[in-house]
Amino acid sequence: MDRYKKQRIRMVETQIRGRSIRDDRVLKVMETVPRHLFVDEGLINQAYSDNPLPIGERQTISQPYIVALMTEALELKGMERVLEIGTGSGYQTAILAKLADRVFSIERVAVLASRARKILDRLNCYNVAIRVGDGSYGWKEEAPFDAIITTAAAPQFPQHLVAQLSPGGRMVVPVGGRDVQTLYKLTRSTENPSELKKEDLGGCRFVSLIGESGWKE
Ligand code: SAM
Repeated sequence: MDRYKKQRIRMVETQIRGRSIRDDRVLKVMETVPRHLFVDEGLINQAYSDNPLPIGERQTISQPYIVALMTEALELKGMERVLEIGTGSGYQTAILAKLADRVFSIERVAVLASRARKILDRLNCYNVAIRVGDGSYGWKEEAPFDAIITTAAAPQFPQHLVAQLSPGGRMVVPVGGRDVQTLYKLTRSTENPSELKKEDLGGCRFVSLIGESGWKE
């Protein structure tokens, strides 16, 4: 048992299962992915605490509960192609990599992307492709996607991303102001693909999406 295993189990029990996340696959994966590898050495003691943490470049690794909530909303069964906007530390990417078939992740800050790549390789997450750039445009060559997750907040639903969601696909995205937003889940209808169901998953606070569908730096 690695020395952080107990902390991970406690994190899942109190912060995630304790807040009504019920998808067994999500709970199991969050018990195994070593979150402490994705934070700065000086913050390792806080890696399993109930909050986001700074990762440099004025960005953050999301709170474990938010990672669980967004992942559960994607309803992953194992065969999906997933698009992630905002690789950040790569922690959410690693969770997706263990739950889906392929993950395409876009990060605008090159140094974060290359740090994440190294950790993901160390964890054998070879089903992840990372690209540096403005994720607002999505990843056209690889579209459509069964699931899309945006881990930076947009002022409105990013239309290029919505267009890359396959029939039956799920998308989670924080939309709102620069300080507070609402986390939304969009589901594209299988029977009538022009129809999108919109669900409110609650209030949240994300760093800003910077780019075409976001804010200026
Ligand atoms: N999920 C990440 C994790 O677990 O570490 C947290 C990501 S952090 C909250 C949001 C990330 O989105 C930041 O790394 C930021 O640089 C990135 N970002 C912001 N705007 C972006 C854009 N237009 N395209 C790609 N990445 C973007």
